[in-house]
Amino acid sequence: MLNALAERAHLAKAKGSKLRGDVSSLTRKISSLKLPHMEKLEDIPLRLDLGEIKKKLHLNRTGGWDLGEALLETARAAIRPRAVYKVCYVEERVEDSVIIDGICFRSRVLRKNLEEVGRVFAYVVTIGKELEERASSCEDLLEKYFFDSIGNVALVKARKYLEDQLRSRFALDGVSFMSPGSLGDWPIEEQRPLFSLFEGGEATIGVRLSESLLMIPIKSVSGIYFPTEITFYSCQLCPRERCEGRKASFDKKLVREYGIGVTEGLSMDVPYV
Ligand code: SF4
Repeated sequence: MLNALAERAHLAKAKGSKLRGDVSSLTRKISSLKLPHMEKLEDIPLRLDLGEIKKKLHLNRTGGWDLGEALLETARAAIRPRAVYKVCYVEERVEDSVIIDGICFRSRVLRKNLEEVGRVFAYVVTIGKELEERASSCEDLLEKYFFDSIGNVALVKARKYLEDQLRSRFALDGVSFMSPGSLGDWPIEEQRPLFSLFEGGEATIGVRLSESLLMIPIKSVSGIYFPTEITFYSCQLCPRERCEGRKASFDKKLVREYGIGVTEGLSMDVPYV
């Protein structure tokens, strides 16, 4: 198929400029056939350590928790970490928007981050609904909180696994990500165009968007990974105080460089994003 298209492209080119349209259309078809499009990662291996979870829950300071190992075992059995990602290409940059695979994303920050970038990786990661169901059937509030926290830790690790896979598969040195809802500048409404990139591929890992644009299962994250020399964190543009999930200090100078206001920097997300 590739050879046949390449031959047609070559012949069309030889016939002169009036066939230039055919050539570029065939070239586009060839390059789209070469793309590794969408890929699913199943049974993502996760190492969940009780010490790490206890630290997150500040249990070290309160003298520990005997049930911890048993609950962690239950949680491990209920977690189903999976991911889907799609290799996409930046086609155009227009004012405060960027067009990726024909889909328009409205965000000044995303557009600036993709200024020099050609290839990006749209992703959805989930740990499934089983842990959530286990937590909601729990009457003990501390146990519920434990399951919720371990779910957050697992989700972050699952996304890190995807990130490591992208680094090694595509020989990327540095990568950063942005998620719809992670900044006022890129609101949750942008989940719609993001999910449209997958054309239903997210359903293969059991994720869907609710009418209010939340992902179901709740313990899911989505966004776009892109190559960077210096790691970008949405937290740098987010002035929220006392956030446990903060990964980088708020940077007023960077906010000015991105040309956004405080509202556009304020995150709407949950702290593990
Ligand atoms: S809410 Fe917290 S985790 Fe989210 S961007 Fe702001 S500082 Fe970072």
